[in-house]
Amino acid sequence: MRLVLATRNAHKADEFGLLLAGHEVAPLPDEVVLPPETGQTFTANARIKAQAAATALGVAVIADDSGIVAAALGGRPGVYSARYAGPDATAEENLAKLLAEAPAGSPVAYVCAIVLIDPATGTDVAFEGRCTGVLDDDPRGTEGFGYDPAFRPDDIADGRTMAQLSPTEKAAISHRGRAARELAAWLAVR
Ligand code: IMP
Repeated sequence: MRLVLATRNAHKADEFGLLLAGHEVAPLPDEVVLPPETGQTFTANARIKAQAAATALGVAVIADDSGIVAAALGGRPGVYSARYAGPDATAEENLAKLLAEAPAGSPVAYVCAIVLIDPATGTDVAFEGRCTGVLDDDPRGTEGFGYDPAFRPDDIADGRTMAQLSPTEKAAISHRGRAARELAAWLAVR
């Protein structure tokens, strides 16, 4: 199926291309403006982006919203992960703030919601994936993005952070991988 991916994040576009192999994941045309993410949940924000792009384009669209939740912070930064240290914060600034607030070794989880909207069929479905891990105060690795250098996934036994995994290894265990496989399974039987 051809799915326009409503994101401006090139890393996410690469990851979805890998995760939804067998489907055509098309980039979001430049002229489509994505509204602010004002939702209180990952699914609400994914729906805001998917709905805006589907309305503008009239074709099937997927959008995701994701972030990191820290148990020691009652679930923060959550939907504010991309702007945790401020509206224009860099990934390094967001990570530094998280490491300053949550203790090393404390539990964290990545969460990803994907919403598919297809105006031609009236489809509006949501999928969610989680990846649990612990916070590492010795950030390392150059793969991935965002909080990956300090995220040590529970599924990886050798102590590597998410930023030390290959794209294929990350896809096998990541929140986005899990949500995308739910979507792919749904597409296969629809
Ligand atoms: P979104 O683009 O609104 O979904 O924001 C997601 C934010 O959550 C990113 O900017 C990162 O800070 C964080 N995030 C989501 N997924 C990942 C991941 O796979 N690795 C690292 N950080 C992530």
